[in-house]
Amino acid sequence: MSTISSVNPATGEPVESHTAHTPEQAADLVDRCHRAHRDWRFVPFARRSELMRGAARQLDQRRDDLARTMALEMGKPLAQGRTEIDKCKWVCEYYADNAERFLATEQRDLDGDRGLVVHNPLGVVLAVMPWNFPFWQVFRFAAPALMAGNGGVLKHASNVPGSALAIEEVFREAGFPEDIFRTLLIGGRDVRAVIEHPLVRAVTLTGSTPAGKSVAENAGRVLKKCVLELGGSDPYIVLGDADVELAVQKCVASRLINTGQSCIAAKRFIVCEPAFEEFERRYCEAFAAKTWGDPLEGDFDLGPLARQDLRDELHDQVQRSIAAGARCPVGGEIPDHRGAFYPATVLCESPEGSPGYNEEMFGPVASILRVKDADQAIEVANDSIFGLGSAVFTSDLAEGERIASQLIEAGACFVNDFVKSDPRMPFGGIKESGYGRELSDHGIKEFLNIKTVVVPASS
Ligand code: NAP
Repeated sequence: MSTISSVNPATGEPVESHTAHTPEQAADLVDRCHRAHRDWRFVPFARRSELMRGAARQLDQRRDDLARTMALEMGKPLAQGRTEIDKCKWVCEYYADNAERFLATEQRDLDGDRGLVVHNPLGVVLAVMPWNFPFWQVFRFAAPALMAGNGGVLKHASNVPGSALAIEEVFREAGFPEDIFRTLLIGGRDVRAVIEHPLVRAVTLTGSTPAGKSVAENAGRVLKKCVLELGGSDPYIVLGDADVELAVQKCVASRLINTGQSCIAAKRFIVCEPAFEEFERRYCEAFAAKTWGDPLEGDFDLGPLARQDLRDELHDQVQRSIAAGARCPVGGEIPDHRGAFYPATVLCESPEGSPGYNEEMFGPVASILRVKDADQAIEVANDSIFGLGSAVFTSDLAEGERIASQLIEAGACFVNDFVKSDPRMPFGGIKESGYGRELSDHGIKEFLNIKTVVVPASS
């Protein structure tokens, strides 16, 4: 009998263990979700909104407990966990307020006939989700999907079963129909059978590029739509005229959110010659001051990485960058301490072809690259298989807007700030960072049948 278990990455001790669902049980949960959806799709928006606001209230009431679950299962500092729950509340309230407007039937005059563009839900959507933001990643899918009248089945990352079950409970306690949102306790290898279930109409995955490719391949074989939110190696360009103090403050914060385990964390800092020395000095000073430790034992800047194997993989990338010629003025050593800890680490001038140049490093490791001017900075920024987030720092806002809007190959580019997801703005990537969009009016339309209906003016 297989199990889905969590281990506290700060201590290596087991947290909780659950018997995994068999393929038959998983298929039964999909059937139940489909049956719930058949009624749910006709529930008026006002009632759906009421329930979604109830989910927001549930989140608020359980905020401290849920933050603790995240700390135990994947090492997130408690304050960051509470902020994550607040953001989940926001996305629930946002879609409770706006879904009806986004999905209103559009009327078109067709030479006298009435053209209607109607938004019908698709049915059961499978969500394959990662451990790094165990609640936010799920709620930003679930809030629009449920408001649109779909059902959801969640296959969460295997190391966060407590979070997965807590999310199911939030919707149940808020009064949603029993089976409209269900958690499947299954491993990655069991996902294909769920995708192939005839009542699963679409799939969304947030996670690594290899997992995304596998899901896209399996969904493609049975012609089911997917949305993929994958990795990134987000470039942050610092032009010669930038306010370096501001740039360092934003670039340090973005690199270390969630102990560096965020798909939209700043990862490569591409700094033009005139700003380079000051940027590197200030950046290293800030990183050297960062503390790490068990989030349940103190208020540290960094928790452990989510799993020991991910920490070891990150260290290997750092070692290979150094062997290729990168400097490492801060960090770079595995601490002599139990748990999956890794210190804030800076790599400078990683040569082309080494991990620090353009690989995704999923942890508290910053890569600072030197370029001569803006043209070279843009070239290096775009020299990546990924295209998720990015930023430009400059005192010339018009030039920043031009570079952000027209020249950077990414799903998002911020000027003089770091990339944040916001329910009001679309979120997603290009190239190997995936396709499709979450959040805003764009996100809620991903899992819909946008139906054309034409009615004669009169008989
Ligand atoms: P991962 O393997 O991509 O896991 C994400 C989700 O996909 C989990 O639910 C996982 O299930 C599932 N999964 C994995 N392989 C699958 C497959 N072949 N078919 C279907 N589902 C599959 O991510 P990870 O191993 O936890 O982290 C590794 C790397 O992924 C990180 O270093 C980072 O590069 C990237 N990552 C990106 C994000 C992001 O937000 N973009 C988030 C997390 C990780 P199991 O847990 O059961 O394997």
